Amino acid sequence: FSSVELTQAYLARIKAEDTKYNSFISVTDDLALEQAAAADSLIAAGDAGTFTGLPIAHKDIFCTQGVRTSCASKMLDNFISPYNATVVDKFNQAGAVTLGKTNMDEFAMGSSNESSFYGPCKNPWNTDCVPGGSSGGSAAAVSAQLTPAATGSDTGGSIRQPAALCGITGLKPTYGRVSRYGMIAFASSLDQGGPMTKTAEDAALMLNVMAGFDKRDSTSADRDVPDYTADLTKPLDGLRIGLPKEFFSGDINADIAAQTQAAIKEFEKLGATVKEVSLPNTALSIPAYYIIAPAEASSNLSRFDGVRYGYRCEDPVDLEDLYKRSRGEGFGPEVKRRILVGAYALSEGFYDAYYNKAQQIRRLIRDDFTKVLSEVDVIMGPTTPHPAFKIGEKSSDPVAMYMEDIFTLSLNLAGLPGMSIPCGTVDGLPTGLQIIGDYFAEQKLLNVAHQFQ
Ligand code: GLN
Repeated sequence: FSSVELTQAYLARIKAEDTKYNSFISVTDDLALEQAAAADSLIAAGDAGTFTGLPIAHKDIFCTQGVRTSCASKMLDNFISPYNATVVDKFNQAGAVTLGKTNMDEFAMGSSNESSFYGPCKNPWNTDCVPGGSSGGSAAAVSAQLTPAATGSDTGGSIRQPAALCGITGLKPTYGRVSRYGMIAFASSLDQGGPMTKTAEDAALMLNVMAGFDKRDSTSADRDVPDYTADLTKPLDGLRIGLPKEFFSGDINADIAAQTQAAIKEFEKLGATVKEVSLPNTALSIPAYYIIAPAEASSNLSRFDGVRYGYRCEDPVDLEDLYKRSRGEGFGPEVKRRILVGAYALSEGFYDAYYNKAQQIRRLIRDDFTKVLSEVDVIMGPTTPHPAFKIGEKSSDPVAMYMEDIFTLSLNLAGLPGMSIPCGTVDGLPTGLQIIGDYFAEQKLLNVAHQFQ
């Protein structure tokens, strides 16, 4: 079948099914069919690459030229991006077909996809439950087979956590591996784009397209991109796995802990050795992250002022009124909370007590990982402490929501790569196994994940 036929089939599926899940904010039918027709010409001319004609979806945090890029905010509901994010450009150049833009938490702030201006996205495994967040739309769309793959972004778990809660595979690469250019900034020292797919092999194929140096991103890593599919079939004999004891204690669902231990047993059968390790500052990742991320967000989001683009209030009486009402009306409650916390933490007299302290903890967390990763090849544990929770269950309690990020935040603070892969179900809902590796060890993570799948 042709790319046009494949694309039409997916578009029809989205139309028929997505009323249940709300995983897409925009469906780009015309663009998709145009790209598919161009791909079919390339295929006919014998000039096709791996991605030519394959449909994908982009999280609505990635700028797409000529298409609304909303970041799930009223602030950007009217924003048609004049340029493409590097990630989007790369997929276009590879011949991929853009089906649309997926739902997410507003400005990627959240763990449940409930803060979206376009309404919550629902978990395809149980539509009373959240799909996780912030890349909830990408996870739900892949899980419900509305797209074969999607892009996501991960500042504190936003690829891995929704992947876990929707039973798919998600990879957060090393900080700097994938360009952030055109990916709307939340917390610039933590943000990283990555693939959300059914399998590790698909994630490797996606990362082959996404990774690489970009001179338009000042923190992009200037190093070669390997073929991420090259090591997938390598045997795992002698693989050293570390299990951090802090990932199996505290407020964690007992079945998830047992499920994870059972998965580790499978790795032993595949030739791996397992030992207990310690990441003693794990619990501090929550307060440190929830200072650093809001601090950076308060600065990044100062650009939305109602002047240049985005939402503008009606009939402002003066400039201050324009700023106040545009921001007051354009941002939702969670975004406002982050801006307030961040601005407070950065303010004179509080900076040393909060922001500096958080940066010191960040260093300790990184050092913990460096030490452990000098003794083992990968670290494993659950991606989340609980399976998907009910829509509305935690939305009025921000701290309870933040606690769900306990196993994912520390990686972003350290800049390390991590993956979540499906690891069975608990009470009919999927759970994720998290695999963490050293800087730029994506190939190793993909190898380990592929052998398990
Ligand atoms: N849940 C975390 C937060 O709300 C992480 C979000 C993300 O990774 N974008 O900040």
